[in-house]
Amino acid sequence: MPHEVKPGFVQLVGAGPGAADLLTLRALRAIEGAQALLYDALISEEVLALAPQGCLKIQTGKRAGRVSMKQETINRLMLRLARRGLKVVRLKGGDPSVFGRVGEEADFLNAHGIATAVVPGVTAACAAAAQFNFPLTHRRQARRVVFTTARLEAGALQADWSSAADPETTLAIYMGGGAAEELSQRLIEAGRAASTPALAVESAGTPRARLRRGTVGELARLVEDGEGGPVLLVIGEVAALADVREIGDTLDAARALSA
Ligand code: SAH
Repeated sequence: MPHEVKPGFVQLVGAGPGAADLLTLRALRAIEGAQALLYDALISEEVLALAPQGCLKIQTGKRAGRVSMKQETINRLMLRLARRGLKVVRLKGGDPSVFGRVGEEADFLNAHGIATAVVPGVTAACAAAAQFNFPLTHRRQARRVVFTTARLEAGALQADWSSAADPETTLAIYMGGGAAEELSQRLIEAGRAASTPALAVESAGTPRARLRRGTVGELARLVEDGEGGPVLLVIGEVAALADVREIGDTLDAARALSA
């Protein structure tokens, strides 16, 4: 499907987990054609470098605990740039539809007469699974995968962990690093065994990625020596399959095979 970019049009683009070669071709074309790029703090330098010279680049922040632009300001800025006729790209880490506020931004722009399109990206859970060699679903071990978040908008811990009780559900918990201790308790209260395998994956999909392995009962320990990158928690039997062969080795092996 050709993806023609008209003025007054905003593309909400998933940048994946950081490595430029995990962008979709459609995302790459959008970035290469951008005249204005609004990007979140999770976007890597490598991906930003793909934008053309002269493209207006605006960081909108959005890391826990750091100052970021208000959502309303981001919305207004996108609107103003699109109305000027610029090709606007709103670049988000991972996939825009997974904890990316894509619905809110698209609704705002559409309500003001600006068309939008979403370009999907590799979400952190998929990047972590690929990099550390475990599946998110697995026959007889994991028949469901739930993308969930530890925290609600107001910062409170999410209360409903009923989906966690099923031993065949893989939980991919976004924005959970700072709440690991409480999460551990909630999951156990919800009926998940404390011995269930668990992972903390920091900066998945980048060369700085770090994997910590343990159990639901030990979530706090898994996140305690992080390096400040984004952390995804993965809970479920599949977590026991994770290993530390990293994407670099895998890619080198693939290159060796095709050489
Ligand atoms: N749209 C993003 C998620 C944004 S919410 C996506 O699809 O991946 C931000 C949270 O995502 C972080 O707190 C962290 O839990 C997770 N996250 C994003 N990038 C990550 C990465 N490279 N490694 C591990 N977790 C990541």
